[in-house]
Amino acid sequence: MAREVYVDQDVCIGCGLCESLVPAVFRLNDAGVSEAYDQEGADEKSVQEAIDSCPVNCIHWR
Ligand code: SF4
Repeated sequence: MAREVYVDQDVCIGCGLCESLVPAVFRLNDAGVSEAYDQEGADEKSVQEAIDSCPVNCIHWR
């Protein structure tokens, strides 16, 4: 991806939606919040879908 995606973990509620939508990019970590662990795991369109679906709008492009 040309842009970098990140999760604001102070805001994430750990619902797991981003992980189920794009598991090759997002996963819940040991603290129960999401992290973008692989920037190359999916295309920007898929990541944008996760951004748009996050219930607390805590996934962002840098
Ligand atoms: Fe966290 Fe949003 Fe992913 Fe849910 S969809 S786990 S709130 S980043």
